[in-house]
Amino acid sequence: MNNANQTNELNQTGQTDQVTKTNKHTRPRPILFLDVDDVVINTAETLIQILNEQFHSTLTVEDIKEWNFNTVLTKLNSHINTELTNNPSFKEQLTKQNVTLPITKSFILHIVETGEFWSKVAFKEDFCFLFKNMIHKYNIYFITNGTQKNLTIKENWLSDNLYLKTETNKNLIQYNFIGLPSNVDKSVEIDKIIKNIYLETSIFPFTIQVDDNYSNLHSRAGDLKILLKNNRETDYNQAEGGREDLYVMNTLKEVSDTIWFYGKYDYKELEELFPLREVIKNTFYKMVKLEKDTGKKHEFK
Ligand SMILES: [Mg+2]
Repeated sequence: MNNANQTNELNQTGQTDQVTKTNKHTRPRPILFLDVDDVVINTAETLIQILNEQFHSTLTVEDIKEWNFNTVLTKLNSHINTELTNNPSFKEQLTKQNVTLPITKSFILHIVETGEFWSKVAFKEDFCFLFKNMIHKYNIYFITNGTQKNLTIKENWLSDNLYLKTETNKNLIQYNFIGLPSNVDKSVEIDKIIKNIYLETSIFPFTIQVDDNYSNLHSRAGDLKILLKNNRETDYNQAEGGREDLYVMNTLKEVSDTIWFYGKYDYKELEELFPLREVIKNTFYKMVKLEKDTGKKHEFK
């Protein structure tokens, strides 16, 4: 991908700045949509570390088997009950910490809103390498769900640490942070972002999306989706077979290699590599024409 003709950078709010087309071959960079929790940062490990430190338990990341933390909660509450029976000072400790029993999912979700979590969390292994090498080739969008408090701290943490930890030239660090409430569907949001870029630039950007939750990988307009399993089997990382637009991977190293591979191609070559792209583009064109003809908004679905 030759970015020499790049003229429309995306700003921090996800909007495209004014576009100046220098010639008919002008193309935006491809877009990389990155989930944050357990793709960019080691959320699962940090949650388990904090729970184990607080309750002297021996949970592992493998215990996060379900999106609702069922196995973690069962093991943790069972451990706490045993400790309460065998260790009288444990009850005092829980009272001091204002812990209400049994531990619930909302207790665990609250942890990602705390200063303790954000002082302990770190980039996942290989993320810094990926970021440093892809920032030249892709427009990077971090796209993540959370509570307002979680999203605010997450955005600040990324802003502070991307420069400090990735050894990337500060002037090169440009990205978009899309923080979504927990009930907003990422795939729908990604379709909207791609549609807006198309409407503003008449260019249909090539996109790659990486997420560790399979249910987030259903955008209609996205070209390639990568399910990052992190070498774990959970109820939220099981992929349906037979999808041409989906790769399943276990490590960020594999993801990085794949993103780098596609970053080498120009638009014509990418269109040959992704025959499905033609179908997606045609649907897009029809939708936009319909909007123009009827004057009504049509979502891409
Ligand atoms: Mg995630």
